[in-house]
Amino acid sequence: MRIPALFVLLGFIRSWECVETRGKRYDGYQVIRVESPSINNTEIGNILHLYEVDIWRNPSISCASFDVMIRPQDLSSMTSNLDRAGAKFHSIVTDVQKLIDEERKPASRGRRRRDSGSKFLHVYHPYEEIRRWIRHFARINADIVRLVQVGITYQGRKIIAAKIGVPRGADKRVVWQDGGIHAREWISGASLMWVMKRLVRGYRQAEPDIVRYLQEMDWYIVPIWNVDGYRYTWTSNRLWRKSIGPKGSYGCFGVDLNRNFDTKFTGEGSTSSRACSDVYRGTHPFSGVESLSVSRFLQRKKGKIAAAITLHSYSQFWLYPYGYTHLQSEDENDLRSLSSRVVRAIFASNQTFYMYGSVENLAYQVPGSSVDWAHDALCVKYSFAVELRDTGTHGFILPARYINPTAKEYFEGLRVVADHVVDLPVEELKSSSCKQRGT
Ligand SMILES: [Zn+2]
Repeated sequence: MRIPALFVLLGFIRSWECVETRGKRYDGYQVIRVESPSINNTEIGNILHLYEVDIWRNPSISCASFDVMIRPQDLSSMTSNLDRAGAKFHSIVTDVQKLIDEERKPASRGRRRRDSGSKFLHVYHPYEEIRRWIRHFARINADIVRLVQVGITYQGRKIIAAKIGVPRGADKRVVWQDGGIHAREWISGASLMWVMKRLVRGYRQAEPDIVRYLQEMDWYIVPIWNVDGYRYTWTSNRLWRKSIGPKGSYGCFGVDLNRNFDTKFTGEGSTSSRACSDVYRGTHPFSGVESLSVSRFLQRKKGKIAAAITLHSYSQFWLYPYGYTHLQSEDENDLRSLSSRVVRAIFASNQTFYMYGSVENLAYQVPGSSVDWAHDALCVKYSFAVELRDTGTHGFILPARYINPTAKEYFEGLRVVADHVVDLPVEELKSSSCKQRGT
């Protein structure tokens, strides 16, 4: 089931981003869930086209509905139109600004605590505080943590990974994890900082599996990939998704870095060639400084990467390639089998239900994404994209009280992946498509 009409529309909506002002507020904005039994319902698509809306969650095979944020001035007219079209819908967020305000409350208390305090990781933080915390974390754990610059942003900021592992020469395999490629998905970065601390704590307390993970593998963890965009979500617009870059047509700027990779770049699906779209793919593959610089770093690790996991929100999906095609990866059986064990571990941890499958089959068609690029170009068999909590109650504005449980259950899934790849022969870590190409 597809909704090509809606994807086309995604290129036209969100033009209001072009005229936003600093500290954009979302008073009275609502998120409604539109049940769409026929996803190809173009009548609904045509109604959306009349308004400046923000699609929070696309319709998918696993969920025949979508979440859309509506401006208060459009609410009455748009819902009347949806009513007339016979669409079923209900409000899932009644005031977006209220969620944003609540989200920041605990953060202001948390910032008064010492950066190294355990509560620090239970709240969200501006980038400068994250950077300070990571530096401090590396300093006090210098025997096993080193900071590595893996890229650079358009505004000249360093993209930093914490490399966690017991130093043991250059032949160690690598586990790569990144968050915050989409600026507004704060839970991804917060979860990865939690994972960093959890790995080090496990090592200090001599937990046998974690000691082994750190002896056998180097863990590269990038909590915030899209640093400029993340800062922008704190200073100007909490719901900014793209990178920051030079202004293009209509004064719009930034690219969706997760549409900017060199894998079916101009393919069909959730992508756009229009600069004002939230899923703008850019002018050419790797036109984003952030995707280009990090991809170059990763190319240098090619052949060593045992697993690559990119974190997003929201939906509670554990996804694997492909996103750009409905065709299965040659590694589908292995990816499916491992993912099934991952989601069971997540459920056992917190009774949180995650679904698993390929991006295209479970979620929707996505060309130019990093999860496919890692699989095809980097030859990483175990390449995953994870959509963390929740399923729409708060969407991107997940309250800070959920950081701990979200990170904890993710970590249980991560353990399953680590257990699987830590001892596999190197040849079995390579994606089958690369084996056939002989790369
Ligand atoms: Zn995302």
